[in-house]
Amino acid sequence: MNTEPDPTMDLTFTDAASAQEAAQLPALTAFDRCDAPDCTAQAYVRARLRSGRSLVFCGHHGHDLLPALAGQGAVVRDDTPLLVENRLRITPSIGGGRN
Ligand SMILES: [Zn+2]
Repeated sequence: MNTEPDPTMDLTFTDAASAQEAAQLPALTAFDRCDAPDCTAQAYVRARLRSGRSLVFCGHHGHDLLPALAGQGAVVRDDTPLLVENRLRITPSIGGGRN
């Protein structure tokens, strides 16, 4: 059976390449605050513009601006899934690691 990649699936390759690029952007910390005016929320989205300038946004503003950033060819690292992970981690583990 021939399982060569379909050339019409070129978009997938582009997405994978930009996902790899996005993973190389520095991770966000609690000190990174949203760059949107009048917003001081913790940043969970980092965008590196084609100019090389880096901007960070909270989940709310990041998702608002994502289409515009992507349209300008920015590389975007979206760490908002960590918000869900952190919420799950709130459940205290009682019993000293016994399973
Ligand atoms: Zn914000």
